[in-house]
Amino acid sequence: MTSVRTRFAPSPTGFLHLGSARTALFNWAYARRHSGRLVLRMEDTDRERSTPESEAAIVDGLDWLGIDWDEGPLRQSDRRDRHLAAIETLLAQGRAYRCRCTPEEIEERKGRAIERGEKWTYDGRCRGLDLAKDCGPHTVRLRLPESGRLDWDDLVFGESGQDASEIGDRIIRRSNGDPLYHLAVVVDDLEMGISHVIRGADHHANTSFQVAIYRALEREPPKFAHVPLIVGPGGKKLSKRGGDLSVQEYRSRGFLPEAVLNWLIRIGWSHGDQEIFSREEIVGFFDLAPIHRASAQADPAKLDSLNHHYIKTLPRADLLARLHPFLESETGSQVERTPAIEQLVDLLRERSRTLVEMAHLARFLVVEEISYEGKAARKHLRAEIEPALRDLLAQLSGIDPWTPEALEAAFQAVRARHGDLPMGKLAQPVRVAITGTAISPGIFDTLAVLGKRRAAARIANALDYLRRT
Ligand code: GLU
Repeated sequence: MTSVRTRFAPSPTGFLHLGSARTALFNWAYARRHSGRLVLRMEDTDRERSTPESEAAIVDGLDWLGIDWDEGPLRQSDRRDRHLAAIETLLAQGRAYRCRCTPEEIEERKGRAIERGEKWTYDGRCRGLDLAKDCGPHTVRLRLPESGRLDWDDLVFGESGQDASEIGDRIIRRSNGDPLYHLAVVVDDLEMGISHVIRGADHHANTSFQVAIYRALEREPPKFAHVPLIVGPGGKKLSKRGGDLSVQEYRSRGFLPEAVLNWLIRIGWSHGDQEIFSREEIVGFFDLAPIHRASAQADPAKLDSLNHHYIKTLPRADLLARLHPFLESETGSQVERTPAIEQLVDLLRERSRTLVEMAHLARFLVVEEISYEGKAARKHLRAEIEPALRDLLAQLSGIDPWTPEALEAAFQAVRARHGDLPMGKLAQPVRVAITGTAISPGIFDTLAVLGKRRAAARIANALDYLRRT
Protein backbone atom coordinates (compact mmCIF):
# COMPACT_ATOMS: atom_id res chain seq x y z
CA MET A 1 0.00 0.00 0.00
CA THR A 2 1.34 3.42 -0.88
CA SER A 3 1.41 5.88 1.95
CA VAL A 4 -1.05 8.73 1.90
CA ARG A 5 0.30 12.18 1.16
CA THR A 6 -2.12 15.04 0.65
CA ARG A 7 -1.55 18.70 0.12
CA PHE A 8 -3.32 21.97 0.66
CA ALA A 9 -2.29 24.38 -2.06
CA PRO A 10 -3.83 27.81 -1.53
CA SER A 11 -3.04 30.80 -3.67
CA PRO A 12 -2.01 33.48 -1.16
CA THR A 13 -4.12 36.24 -2.63
CA GLY A 14 -6.52 36.91 0.25
CA PHE A 15 -7.78 35.52 3.51
CA LEU A 16 -8.56 31.89 4.25
CA HIS A 17 -12.16 31.66 3.12
CA LEU A 18 -14.70 29.06 4.04
CA GLY A 19 -14.29 26.95 0.89
CA SER A 20 -10.49 26.80 1.16
CA ALA A 21 -10.69 26.07 4.86
CA ARG A 22 -12.89 23.09 4.10
CA THR A 23 -10.48 21.87 1.42
CA ALA A 24 -7.67 22.16 3.96
CA LEU A 25 -9.73 20.29 6.54
CA PHE A 26 -10.56 17.44 4.16
CA ASN A 27 -6.88 17.07 3.22
CA TRP A 28 -5.88 17.17 6.86
CA ALA A 29 -8.54 14.68 7.92
CA TYR A 30 -7.67 12.27 5.13
CA ALA A 31 -3.96 12.42 5.88
CA ARG A 32 -4.51 11.98 9.62
CA ARG A 33 -7.02 9.17 9.11
CA HIS A 34 -4.45 7.21 7.15
CA SER A 35 -1.43 8.18 9.24
CA GLY A 36 -0.19 10.03 6.19
CA ARG A 37 1.32 13.45 5.72
CA LEU A 38 -0.08 16.82 4.76
CA VAL A 39 1.98 19.27 2.73
CA LEU A 40 1.21 22.98 2.76
CA ARG A 41 2.16 24.57 -0.53
CA MET A 42 1.65 28.22 -1.31
CA GLU A 43 0.82 28.63 -4.98
CA ASP A 44 2.28 32.06 -5.26
CA THR A 45 3.28 32.22 -8.89
CA ASP A 46 0.81 35.01 -9.59
CA ARG A 47 3.30 37.63 -8.52
CA GLU A 48 0.93 40.53 -8.74
CA ARG A 49 -1.75 39.10 -6.53
CA SER A 50 0.26 37.00 -4.04
CA THR A 51 1.27 38.73 -0.82
CA PRO A 52 3.14 37.76 2.34
CA GLU A 53 0.21 39.16 4.35
CA SER A 54 -2.14 36.73 2.71
CA GLU A 55 0.27 33.88 3.34
CA ALA A 56 0.39 34.85 7.01
CA ALA A 57 -3.40 35.10 7.15
CA ILE A 58 -3.78 31.61 5.70
CA VAL A 59 -1.29 30.14 8.15
CA ASP A 60 -2.99 31.98 10.99
CA GLY A 61 -6.42 30.70 9.94
CA LEU A 62 -5.17 27.11 9.75
CA ASP A 63 -3.49 27.45 13.15
CA TRP A 64 -6.67 28.74 14.69
CA LEU A 65 -8.65 25.81 13.30
CA GLY A 66 -5.99 23.42 14.57
CA ILE A 67 -5.20 22.13 11.09
CA ASP A 68 -1.55 21.24 11.28
CA TRP A 69 0.68 20.16 8.43
CA ASP A 70 3.82 18.08 8.25
CA GLU A 71 5.79 19.79 5.49
CA GLY A 72 5.90 23.40 4.46
CA PRO A 73 4.84 26.02 3.90
CA LEU A 74 6.63 25.43 0.63
CA ARG A 75 6.43 28.03 -2.10
CA GLN A 76 5.69 27.23 -5.68
CA SER A 77 7.75 30.24 -6.75
CA ASP A 78 10.85 28.64 -5.17
CA ARG A 79 10.44 25.70 -7.49
CA ARG A 80 10.52 27.54 -10.78
CA ASP A 81 13.75 25.76 -11.81
CA ARG A 82 12.04 22.41 -11.37
CA HIS A 83 9.13 23.50 -13.52
CA LEU A 84 11.43 24.81 -16.24
CA ALA A 85 13.52 21.65 -16.13
CA ALA A 86 10.40 19.54 -16.71
CA ILE A 87 9.53 21.69 -19.72
CA GLU A 88 13.04 21.21 -21.13
CA THR A 89 12.67 17.46 -20.73
CA LEU A 90 9.36 17.51 -22.57
CA LEU A 91 10.90 19.62 -25.33
CA ALA A 92 13.88 17.31 -25.67
CA GLN A 93 11.57 14.32 -25.99
CA GLY A 94 9.38 16.01 -28.55
CA ARG A 95 6.41 15.91 -26.16
CA ALA A 96 6.30 19.67 -26.23
CA TYR A 97 7.18 22.11 -28.98
CA ARG A 98 7.92 25.77 -29.49
CA CYS A 99 5.19 27.90 -30.96
CA ARG A 100 5.66 31.28 -32.60
CA CYS A 101 2.00 32.18 -33.00
CA THR A 102 1.38 35.55 -31.40
CA PRO A 103 -1.67 36.24 -29.24
CA GLU A 104 -3.02 38.49 -32.01
CA GLU A 105 -2.71 35.74 -34.59
CA ILE A 106 -4.36 33.26 -32.27
CA GLU A 107 -7.18 35.73 -31.56
CA GLU A 108 -7.82 36.18 -35.23
CA ARG A 109 -7.88 32.48 -36.05
CA LYS A 110 -9.98 31.79 -33.02
CA GLY A 111 -12.46 34.51 -34.07
CA ARG A 112 -12.82 32.95 -37.49
CA ALA A 113 -13.32 29.46 -36.07
CA ILE A 114 -16.04 30.76 -33.80
CA GLU A 115 -17.70 32.54 -36.74
CA ARG A 116 -17.80 29.21 -38.53
CA GLY A 117 -19.53 27.81 -35.47
CA GLU A 118 -16.55 25.69 -34.44
CA LYS A 119 -15.09 25.29 -31.00
CA TRP A 120 -11.57 26.61 -30.79
CA THR A 121 -8.57 24.59 -29.79
CA TYR A 122 -5.07 25.44 -30.94
CA ASP A 123 -4.94 24.56 -34.64
CA GLY A 124 -1.47 23.04 -34.55
CA ARG A 125 0.18 25.54 -36.89
CA CYS A 126 3.62 25.21 -35.21
CA ARG A 127 3.19 21.59 -34.20
CA GLY A 128 5.18 20.13 -37.06
CA LEU A 129 7.76 22.93 -37.44
CA ASP A 130 10.26 21.66 -34.89
CA LEU A 131 11.27 25.21 -34.02
CA ALA A 132 14.61 25.63 -32.26
CA LYS A 133 15.48 27.77 -29.24
CA ASP A 134 16.56 30.64 -31.45
CA CYS A 135 13.26 30.88 -33.29
CA GLY A 136 12.50 34.28 -31.77
CA PRO A 137 9.77 35.02 -29.21
CA HIS A 138 7.85 31.82 -28.59
CA THR A 139 5.71 29.88 -26.20
CA VAL A 140 5.96 26.18 -25.47
CA ARG A 141 2.96 23.93 -26.02
CA LEU A 142 2.30 20.42 -24.83
CA ARG A 143 1.82 18.02 -27.72
CA LEU A 144 -1.42 16.19 -27.03
CA PRO A 145 -2.25 12.81 -28.47
CA GLU A 146 -4.40 13.18 -31.57
CA SER A 147 -7.05 10.87 -30.28
CA GLY A 148 -8.06 9.07 -27.13
CA ARG A 149 -9.33 10.19 -23.82
CA LEU A 150 -7.65 11.98 -20.99
CA ASP A 151 -9.55 10.41 -18.17
CA TRP A 152 -9.39 9.51 -14.53
CA ASP A 153 -11.61 7.89 -11.95
CA ASP A 154 -12.47 10.73 -9.62
CA LEU A 155 -13.07 9.64 -6.04
CA VAL A 156 -16.06 11.98 -5.83
CA PHE A 157 -17.22 12.54 -9.42
CA GLY A 158 -16.51 9.04 -10.69
CA GLU A 159 -15.42 8.47 -14.31
CA SER A 160 -14.28 11.84 -15.60
CA GLY A 161 -12.33 13.15 -18.55
CA GLN A 162 -12.36 14.63 -22.02
CA ASP A 163 -11.19 13.66 -25.48
CA ALA A 164 -7.69 14.94 -26.11
CA SER A 165 -9.00 16.62 -29.27
CA GLU A 166 -11.31 18.81 -27.19
CA ILE A 167 -8.38 20.26 -25.34
CA GLY A 168 -5.75 20.80 -27.98
CA ASP A 169 -2.08 21.66 -27.54
CA ARG A 170 -2.06 24.17 -24.71
CA ILE A 171 0.71 26.44 -23.57
CA ILE A 172 2.95 25.26 -20.73
CA ARG A 173 5.52 28.07 -20.91
CA ARG A 174 4.72 31.67 -21.71
CA SER A 175 6.74 33.76 -24.12
CA ASN A 176 8.23 35.60 -21.12
CA GLY A 177 9.64 32.28 -19.91
CA ASP A 178 7.15 31.70 -17.07
CA PRO A 179 5.88 28.15 -16.63
CA LEU A 180 2.14 27.80 -16.66
CA TYR A 181 0.22 27.04 -13.54
CA HIS A 182 -1.00 23.58 -14.61
CA LEU A 183 2.52 22.47 -15.39
CA ALA A 184 3.74 23.75 -12.04
CA VAL A 185 0.97 21.96 -10.12
CA VAL A 186 1.69 18.65 -11.80
CA VAL A 187 5.46 18.89 -11.30
CA ASP A 188 5.00 19.88 -7.66
CA ASP A 189 2.49 17.15 -6.92
CA LEU A 190 4.79 14.59 -8.52
CA GLU A 191 7.95 15.72 -6.81
CA MET A 192 6.21 16.05 -3.46
CA GLY A 193 4.93 12.49 -3.83
CA ILE A 194 1.29 13.49 -3.44
CA SER A 195 -0.95 10.43 -3.46
CA HIS A 196 -4.35 12.17 -3.22
CA VAL A 197 -5.27 15.54 -4.67
CA ILE A 198 -8.34 16.70 -2.77
CA ARG A 199 -9.48 20.09 -4.05
CA GLY A 200 -12.46 22.19 -5.06
CA ALA A 201 -14.66 21.06 -7.92
CA ASP A 202 -13.73 24.27 -9.75
CA HIS A 203 -10.54 22.39 -10.68
CA HIS A 204 -12.37 19.38 -12.09
CA ALA A 205 -12.47 20.89 -15.58
CA ASN A 206 -8.70 21.48 -15.56
CA THR A 207 -7.83 17.98 -14.63
CA SER A 208 -7.90 16.46 -18.13
CA PHE A 209 -5.10 18.77 -19.17
CA GLN A 210 -3.18 17.93 -16.03
CA VAL A 211 -3.65 14.22 -16.82
CA ALA A 212 -2.12 14.94 -20.24
CA ILE A 213 0.91 16.45 -18.53
CA TYR A 214 1.31 13.41 -16.27
CA ARG A 215 1.17 11.15 -19.29
CA ALA A 216 3.69 13.24 -21.20
CA LEU A 217 5.99 12.97 -18.19
CA GLU A 218 5.30 9.22 -18.17
CA ARG A 219 4.10 9.30 -14.62
CA GLU A 220 1.01 7.93 -12.96
CA PRO A 221 -1.31 10.73 -11.79
CA PRO A 222 -2.32 10.79 -8.12
CA LYS A 223 -5.88 10.00 -7.14
CA PHE A 224 -8.17 12.97 -7.54
CA ALA A 225 -11.12 13.89 -5.34
CA HIS A 226 -12.95 17.04 -6.40
CA VAL A 227 -15.19 18.29 -3.66
CA PRO A 228 -18.32 20.24 -4.59
CA LEU A 229 -18.17 23.95 -3.92
CA ILE A 230 -20.05 25.23 -0.92
CA VAL A 231 -23.46 26.73 -1.56
CA GLY A 232 -25.97 28.34 0.76
CA PRO A 233 -29.26 26.83 1.93
CA GLY A 234 -31.46 25.79 -1.00
CA GLY A 235 -28.42 25.58 -3.28
CA LYS A 236 -28.12 29.34 -3.64
CA LYS A 237 -24.77 30.98 -4.20
CA LEU A 238 -23.09 31.61 -0.88
CA SER A 239 -23.34 35.26 0.05
CA LYS A 240 -21.35 37.17 2.60
CA ARG A 241 -24.43 37.35 4.77
CA GLY A 242 -25.02 33.66 4.28
CA GLY A 243 -21.57 32.82 5.60
CA ASP A 244 -19.00 33.35 2.85
CA LEU A 245 -16.57 34.87 5.30
CA SER A 246 -12.95 34.34 6.07
CA VAL A 247 -11.97 32.17 8.99
CA GLN A 248 -10.65 35.32 10.69
CA GLU A 249 -14.07 36.92 10.42
CA TYR A 250 -15.66 33.92 12.08
CA ARG A 251 -13.13 34.18 14.85
CA SER A 252 -13.73 37.88 15.39
CA ARG A 253 -17.48 37.28 15.47
CA GLY A 254 -16.97 35.05 18.46
CA PHE A 255 -17.16 31.59 16.94
CA LEU A 256 -15.06 28.81 18.42
CA PRO A 257 -12.71 26.87 16.17
CA GLU A 258 -14.32 23.60 17.31
CA ALA A 259 -17.67 24.84 16.01
CA VAL A 260 -16.31 26.11 12.70
CA LEU A 261 -14.38 22.88 12.17
CA ASN A 262 -17.43 20.80 13.01
CA TRP A 263 -19.58 22.91 10.70
CA LEU A 264 -17.10 22.60 7.83
CA ILE A 265 -16.68 18.87 8.10
CA ARG A 266 -20.43 18.39 7.79
CA ILE A 267 -20.77 20.47 4.64
CA GLY A 268 -21.14 17.81 1.97
CA TRP A 269 -19.82 14.99 4.14
CA SER A 270 -21.61 12.82 6.65
CA HIS A 271 -21.15 9.92 8.98
CA GLY A 272 -24.57 8.45 9.67
CA ASP A 273 -26.64 11.22 11.14
CA GLN A 274 -24.03 12.36 13.63
CA GLU A 275 -23.84 16.16 13.93
CA ILE A 276 -21.25 16.75 16.64
CA PHE A 277 -17.72 15.63 15.88
CA SER A 278 -14.65 16.02 18.03
CA ARG A 279 -11.33 16.29 16.22
CA GLU A 280 -10.60 12.70 17.17
CA GLU A 281 -13.87 11.56 15.66
CA ILE A 282 -13.19 13.47 12.46
CA VAL A 283 -9.85 11.71 12.18
CA GLY A 284 -11.44 8.40 13.12
CA PHE A 285 -14.30 8.53 10.64
CA PHE A 286 -13.26 10.69 7.72
CA ASP A 287 -13.44 9.11 4.31
CA LEU A 288 -13.82 10.43 0.78
CA ALA A 289 -16.56 8.00 -0.27
CA PRO A 290 -19.42 9.75 1.57
CA ILE A 291 -18.67 13.09 -0.07
CA HIS A 292 -21.66 13.76 -2.20
CA ARG A 293 -21.00 15.30 -5.58
CA ALA A 294 -24.35 17.02 -5.67
CA SER A 295 -24.59 18.80 -2.41
CA ALA A 296 -22.46 20.97 -0.17
CA GLN A 297 -24.95 23.23 1.52
CA ALA A 298 -23.78 25.43 4.35
CA ASP A 299 -26.43 26.59 6.75
CA PRO A 300 -25.23 29.43 9.01
CA ALA A 301 -27.96 28.53 11.52
CA LYS A 302 -26.17 25.22 12.03
CA LEU A 303 -22.98 27.05 12.87
CA ASP A 304 -24.85 29.10 15.47
CA SER A 305 -26.21 26.00 17.10
CA LEU A 306 -22.84 24.22 17.02
CA ASN A 307 -21.19 27.24 18.56
CA HIS A 308 -23.82 27.30 21.26
CA HIS A 309 -23.17 23.63 21.90
CA TYR A 310 -19.44 24.19 22.38
CA ILE A 311 -20.00 27.28 24.52
CA LYS A 312 -22.23 25.18 26.76
CA THR A 313 -19.81 22.29 27.03
CA LEU A 314 -16.28 23.71 27.11
CA PRO A 315 -14.55 23.47 30.49
CA ARG A 316 -14.95 26.72 32.38
CA ALA A 317 -11.28 27.72 32.48
CA ASP A 318 -10.91 27.10 28.79
CA LEU A 319 -14.03 29.06 27.94
CA LEU A 320 -12.92 31.93 30.13
CA ALA A 321 -9.51 32.05 28.47
CA ARG A 322 -11.18 32.32 25.08
CA LEU A 323 -13.68 34.88 26.27
CA HIS A 324 -11.00 37.08 27.78
CA PRO A 325 -9.88 38.94 24.62
CA PHE A 326 -13.53 39.59 23.78
CA LEU A 327 -14.10 41.03 27.24
CA GLU A 328 -11.14 43.32 26.75
CA SER A 329 -12.34 44.53 23.40
CA GLU A 330 -15.90 44.90 24.70
CA THR A 331 -14.71 47.13 27.52
CA GLY A 332 -11.66 48.66 25.88
CA SER A 333 -9.59 47.97 28.98
CA GLN A 334 -7.66 45.27 30.74
CA VAL A 335 -9.84 42.76 32.49
CA GLU A 336 -8.73 40.87 35.56
CA ARG A 337 -9.85 37.31 36.02
CA THR A 338 -11.89 37.13 39.19
CA PRO A 339 -13.93 34.34 40.78
CA ALA A 340 -17.02 36.42 40.01
CA ILE A 341 -16.28 36.35 36.27
CA GLU A 342 -15.84 32.59 36.46
CA GLN A 343 -19.26 32.25 38.04
CA LEU A 344 -20.80 34.59 35.52
CA VAL A 345 -19.40 32.61 32.60
CA ASP A 346 -21.33 29.59 33.78
CA LEU A 347 -24.49 31.66 34.08
CA LEU A 348 -24.07 33.02 30.55
CA ARG A 349 -23.40 29.79 28.66
CA GLU A 350 -27.06 29.04 28.13
CA ARG A 351 -27.86 32.42 26.61
CA SER A 352 -24.78 33.12 24.47
CA ARG A 353 -24.45 31.92 20.93
CA THR A 354 -21.08 33.61 20.40
CA LEU A 355 -18.24 34.93 22.53
CA VAL A 356 -19.14 38.42 21.33
CA GLU A 357 -22.62 38.03 22.79
CA MET A 358 -21.18 36.57 25.96
CA ALA A 359 -18.73 39.41 26.40
CA HIS A 360 -21.51 41.89 25.88
CA LEU A 361 -23.65 40.20 28.51
CA ALA A 362 -20.68 40.09 30.91
CA ARG A 363 -19.90 43.74 30.48
CA PHE A 364 -21.78 44.90 33.57
CA LEU A 365 -19.51 42.87 35.80
CA VAL A 366 -16.18 44.01 34.41
CA VAL A 367 -16.78 47.73 33.97
CA GLU A 368 -16.71 50.05 36.94
CA GLU A 369 -19.53 52.23 35.68
CA ILE A 370 -22.45 51.14 33.61
CA SER A 371 -24.64 53.28 31.44
CA TYR A 372 -28.29 52.57 30.84
CA GLU A 373 -29.59 51.47 27.49
CA GLY A 374 -32.13 54.13 26.57
CA LYS A 375 -35.04 51.86 25.88
CA ALA A 376 -34.50 49.70 28.94
CA ALA A 377 -34.26 52.75 31.22
CA ARG A 378 -37.36 54.40 29.76
CA LYS A 379 -39.36 51.24 30.18
CA HIS A 380 -38.21 50.08 33.60
CA LEU A 381 -36.67 52.96 35.56
CA ARG A 382 -39.85 54.89 36.30
CA ALA A 383 -40.90 57.03 39.21
CA GLU A 384 -43.44 54.55 40.60
CA ILE A 385 -40.74 51.99 41.40
CA GLU A 386 -38.82 54.38 43.61
CA PRO A 387 -40.32 53.37 47.00
CA ALA A 388 -39.79 49.65 46.40
CA LEU A 389 -36.27 50.20 45.11
CA ARG A 390 -35.44 52.35 48.12
CA ASP A 391 -36.82 49.66 50.43
CA LEU A 392 -34.75 46.99 48.67
CA LEU A 393 -31.61 49.08 48.99
CA ALA A 394 -32.23 49.41 52.71
CA GLN A 395 -32.45 45.61 53.03
CA LEU A 396 -29.27 44.85 51.13
CA SER A 397 -26.78 45.71 53.85
CA GLY A 398 -28.41 43.18 56.17
CA ILE A 399 -28.14 40.27 53.73
CA ASP A 400 -25.53 37.84 54.91
CA PRO A 401 -24.43 35.56 53.37
CA TRP A 402 -24.89 37.23 50.00
CA THR A 403 -26.48 34.32 48.21
CA PRO A 404 -29.19 33.99 45.55
CA GLU A 405 -31.44 32.36 48.16
CA ALA A 406 -31.05 35.20 50.65
CA LEU A 407 -31.63 37.73 47.88
CA GLU A 408 -34.77 35.96 46.83
CA ALA A 409 -36.13 36.18 50.37
CA ALA A 410 -35.37 39.92 50.48
CA PHE A 411 -37.15 40.46 47.19
CA GLN A 412 -40.20 38.60 48.46
CA ALA A 413 -40.38 40.72 51.57
CA VAL A 414 -40.10 43.95 49.56
CA ARG A 415 -42.77 42.85 47.07
CA ALA A 416 -45.13 41.98 49.89
CA ARG A 417 -44.66 45.39 51.47
CA HIS A 418 -45.45 47.19 48.20
CA GLY A 419 -48.86 45.87 47.36
CA ASP A 420 -47.77 42.40 46.22
CA LEU A 421 -45.65 43.88 43.48
CA PRO A 422 -45.31 41.29 40.68
CA MET A 423 -41.80 39.83 40.45
CA GLY A 424 -41.11 41.34 37.02
CA LYS A 425 -42.02 44.81 38.22
CA LEU A 426 -39.21 44.69 40.72
CA ALA A 427 -36.72 42.44 38.94
CA GLN A 428 -36.63 44.42 35.69
CA PRO A 429 -35.87 47.80 37.30
CA VAL A 430 -33.20 46.14 39.43
CA ARG A 431 -31.76 44.46 36.34
CA VAL A 432 -31.52 47.77 34.50
CA ALA A 433 -30.08 49.38 37.62
CA ILE A 434 -27.26 46.85 37.94
CA THR A 435 -26.54 45.86 34.32
CA GLY A 436 -27.84 48.83 32.32
CA THR A 437 -29.86 46.42 30.15
CA ALA A 438 -33.05 44.44 30.33
CA ILE A 439 -31.27 41.14 29.67
CA SER A 440 -29.22 39.12 32.12
CA PRO A 441 -29.25 35.74 33.81
CA GLY A 442 -31.67 35.30 36.73
CA ILE A 443 -31.75 38.43 38.85
CA PHE A 444 -30.66 36.75 42.11
CA ASP A 445 -27.71 35.08 40.43
CA THR A 446 -26.79 38.32 38.75
CA LEU A 447 -26.88 40.25 42.00
CA ALA A 448 -24.92 37.49 43.69
CA VAL A 449 -22.02 37.63 41.24
CA LEU A 450 -21.96 41.41 41.25
CA GLY A 451 -21.41 41.47 45.01
CA LYS A 452 -23.09 43.46 47.74
CA ARG A 453 -21.07 46.66 47.58
CA ARG A 454 -21.40 47.16 43.85
CA ALA A 455 -25.05 46.10 43.75
CA ALA A 456 -25.92 48.61 46.45
CA ALA A 457 -23.97 51.40 44.75
CA ARG A 458 -25.72 50.77 41.45
CA ILE A 459 -29.18 50.71 42.99
CA ALA A 460 -28.34 53.96 44.79
CA ASN A 461 -27.30 55.42 41.42
CA ALA A 462 -30.59 54.33 39.92
CA LEU A 463 -32.43 56.12 42.72
CA ASP A 464 -30.42 59.25 41.93
CA TYR A 465 -31.31 58.85 38.31
CA LEU A 466 -35.00 58.56 39.20
CA ARG A 467 -34.80 61.76 41.20
CA ARG A 468 -33.17 63.61 38.35
CA THR A 469 -35.56 62.49 35.60
N1 GLU B 1 -4.00 27.08 -5.91
C1 GLU B 1 -5.26 26.54 -6.27
C2 GLU B 1 -6.37 27.31 -5.58
O1 GLU B 1 -6.11 27.98 -4.62
C3 GLU B 1 -5.38 25.10 -5.90
C4 GLU B 1 -4.89 24.19 -6.94
C5 GLU B 1 -4.99 22.75 -6.60
O2 GLU B 1 -5.41 22.40 -5.49
O3 GLU B 1 -4.60 21.93 -7.45
O4 GLU B 1 -7.49 27.23 -6.02
